Amino acid sequence: MAEDTRLIHAGAGDQPLVKTVSPPIQKGSTVLLPNAAALYDDDHFITYGRQGLAAHDALRAGLCELENAKGVCLYPSGVAAISGALLAVLKAGDEILVVDNTYKPTRRFCDHVLKRFGVSTRYYDPRLSPEELVGGASDATRLILLESPGSLSFEMQDMAAIARLARARGILTMADNTWGSGLIYKPLDHGIDLSVQALTKYVGGHSDVFMGSAAARDPALVKALEDGVLHLGWAVAPEDAYQMLRGLRTLAVRMARHGESGLKVAAWLRDQPQVLQVLHPALPGCPDHELWARDYTGACGLFGFLLKPASEAAVAAFLDALEIFGLGFSWGGFESLAISCDEQLKTRKFLRTYPGPLMRLHVGLEDPADLTADLAKGFAALDAAA
Ligand SMILES: *Cc1c(COP(=O)(O)O)cnc(C)c1O
Repeated sequence: MAEDTRLIHAGAGDQPLVKTVSPPIQKGSTVLLPNAAALYDDDHFITYGRQGLAAHDALRAGLCELENAKGVCLYPSGVAAISGALLAVLKAGDEILVVDNTYKPTRRFCDHVLKRFGVSTRYYDPRLSPEELVGGASDATRLILLESPGSLSFEMQDMAAIARLARARGILTMADNTWGSGLIYKPLDHGIDLSVQALTKYVGGHSDVFMGSAAARDPALVKALEDGVLHLGWAVAPEDAYQMLRGLRTLAVRMARHGESGLKVAAWLRDQPQVLQVLHPALPGCPDHELWARDYTGACGLFGFLLKPASEAAVAAFLDALEIFGLGFSWGGFESLAISCDEQLKTRKFLRTYPGPLMRLHVGLEDPADLTADLAKGFAALDAAA
């Protein structure tokens, strides 16, 4: 054979791979099939690299364990998992009920994309009882989208009761369970049909990979999710799948530390004179603590708190004085983060008037004593600016 042909085929034998602890990062668009019959054999599931290779398979198997699911699909971001799962089960003419404290990009998808395709969205107050919520559904209601605790304001919903009532009316339920991560709350165990999360946050855990997942137990829903991924053409890079699997391996130990440190910082905050109220469902005495205690097996490091009335300049002085807490919108990584929230609340339909500025913290894996010392510096700056 000529040199150019030899260079193309050298080393492409089929020597078996040695076995390592983690799967190989297989890179491939083309999958070579064993024989002509396999080309159109429906039992041969993986016929093209977009469907995922070794690292994707291992990650999906791990996420099935985490979610107690029959099937899990991967998406290139958390938002893509939400939009993908919704597109997989909705059709023109449907209505969805979406909790008003939902993650803001979810709202953008509903208001801009679903609307264009004839799916209408009705936002509901997270404080509605399960009976009021499901009782308010119409004949067109196909799905209820829940997020508990909700973004920024941390209200919790009785997901089990909502799932039960919705199922009796033939309405699907879907939870954005990024806070619960599958480890401290498993939506499918509580009767929710579709469990979606931004793996970007706690499963990744290092603020450096985007990915989302959607999990289901009902075979028809698993098939709908898989078809949805196929139809829309999503693919996740093998390196990212590998890195996400690495995060999954240490999720439990990281989450225990996030939860414990978060509660220490939250309890400390409650004693500070500048703080009006702490919004951490896992802290006794905080709103919705009973629901958390009934359904959750742990806490993560994300929670909110209200400052006593303070000017925007004083809030900025507080944030700018922090040295360990970074100012950033994501969470779930090893590092602590802080943001002010009032600007983001403006897009909500059911505006809650808070007596003071709403703040959010993500407590990372640093020593909690260093974190409270950092916050004390922030409070000193807030007092000086008042
Ligand atoms: C971050 C986040 C998402 C989106 O995840 P991306 O990977 O950033 O797209 C979805 N839902 C919630 C609650 C989030 O916090």
